[in-house]
Amino acid sequence: MTGGIFKNYINGEWVGSDASIRNINPSDLSDIVGEYAKATPEHCENAIAAANQAFQGWSQSALEQRKAILDFIGAELIARKDEIGAILAREEGKTLAEGIGEVARSGQFFQYYGAEALRLMGENTASVRPGVDVEVHREPLGVIGIVTPWNFPMAVAAWKVAPALCYGNCVVLKPAELVPASAWILADIISRSGLPAGVFNLVMGSGRDVGETLCTSADIQAVTFTGSVAVGRHIARNAIDNMARVQLEMGSKNALVVLNDADLDIAVQCAVAGAYFGTGQKCTASSRIIVEAGIHDQFVEKMTAEMNKLVVGNAMTPGVHIGAVVDERQLLQNLEYMEVAKREGAELVQGGERLQLETEGYFMSPALFINTSNTMRINREEVFGPIACVIKVENYDEALAVSNDSDFGLTSGIITNSLAAAGHFKRHSKSGCVMVNLPTAGTDYHVPFGGRKASSYGPREQGQYARDFYTIIKTNYSKPY
Ligand code: NAP
Ligand code: MG
Repeated sequence: MTGGIFKNYINGEWVGSDASIRNINPSDLSDIVGEYAKATPEHCENAIAAANQAFQGWSQSALEQRKAILDFIGAELIARKDEIGAILAREEGKTLAEGIGEVARSGQFFQYYGAEALRLMGENTASVRPGVDVEVHREPLGVIGIVTPWNFPMAVAAWKVAPALCYGNCVVLKPAELVPASAWILADIISRSGLPAGVFNLVMGSGRDVGETLCTSADIQAVTFTGSVAVGRHIARNAIDNMARVQLEMGSKNALVVLNDADLDIAVQCAVAGAYFGTGQKCTASSRIIVEAGIHDQFVEKMTAEMNKLVVGNAMTPGVHIGAVVDERQLLQNLEYMEVAKREGAELVQGGERLQLETEGYFMSPALFINTSNTMRINREEVFGPIACVIKVENYDEALAVSNDSDFGLTSGIITNSLAAAGHFKRHSKSGCVMVNLPTAGTDYHVPFGGRKASSYGPREQGQYARDFYTIIKTNYSKPY
């Protein structure tokens, strides 16, 4: 994998470029994962044109052909999960175990949508006019622009590309510039899967030029984006100009509520996993830990004791729990938010230090603040790092209110032994995914995923619900005699 130039994949051909992207391992800055050809806006336009050319054929393709191709891609990802997972961990900084898990999960997305290709049922109903039949069925949309973030370089691409192809659409994928390797590997597998030329295209490059060209094109029918709120809002505005369909998954500020009756071990396990694994670089991370007063001190004591056991280090080293922050800009932003929190009066009880380790990289110890309030910036703005804040509350009602008092609403969680509290929270939490006695991070692939408020916009991703985005409905009326 090291050395050489990894090219863009346009109309079934590997296409080079004059400029390249250097992919650096954030756990070891001396390790270069590879040099990747940087696509130009013209490359992107060629990819969009190729996808439009291929659409007629692919939209009419046999369902068993789609299933065979999606199964092939899924099976290869799963068979090569260790090797590809290592490359993913090297380019993104999450631990090797997390990298392998992400690749295996990505394979499951393809296999799931392989099966879904055979399950796209329509509806028949009687008309209000006697003697007339009505059929409601779904057709592919056309060309889908897919823009992905750096934090799940394989999984986000998988959960968008797989349903797009399953339902007969063509794709232009623009991965985050920081992490092109996973997307390139996916393109390499797809290039050997039997998928006709032009159906899937990869353009690696920056959001500002290639991403902008893709998302402002009048020749795509939809954009699916995962990333920050600012970019999401910009993409949505552009999409409306072209009447393109848009699906956005963005940031969050997820709350984990811990009630007095919680099992303390479960509460701490869920808080640690939800706040810090993946270096806290998950849109589903628990960044606000809302703790009822009666269990607060015990919880903080046990949480800091568990945090002391976490090993931060090179993502590739066995036994490491928390790998590197993705790049210097993100690390500096995390450290800046530490200062903002302290200035606002939050009390740092653990971690939050930049670490110098054996390899030069972007490491920091997981941080926990206490005595924070929900009005502080640290509890309102997404940090996207291994930093969590405890907010002490008097009772369940206050916990629910604080949990819902956010501009975001992706996931939320509650740790409790009370059926009544859990039931009430599931019903009244203003988030897209609610977890009871589970971490706020960690979702399945066969059920819908998405949030509310500034966290998501448009139809849900994943499971069968994905078809609401990737297909368009047609209503046929006929009089059979
Ligand atoms: P980002 O800066 O918004 O970038 C996301 C993607 O958009 C990248 O591929 C980026 O390209 C591209 N882009 C930037 N400007 C663009 C433009 N004008 N037109 C089209 N594309 C453009 O986000 P990020 O820094 O990669 O990821 C972190 C964010 O993603 C966090 O806020 C996190 O919460 C969110 N996230 C959400 C979910 C979810 O499902 N809700 C999942 C994962 C991450 P470049 O890489 O070249 O900038
Ligand atoms: Mg970015």
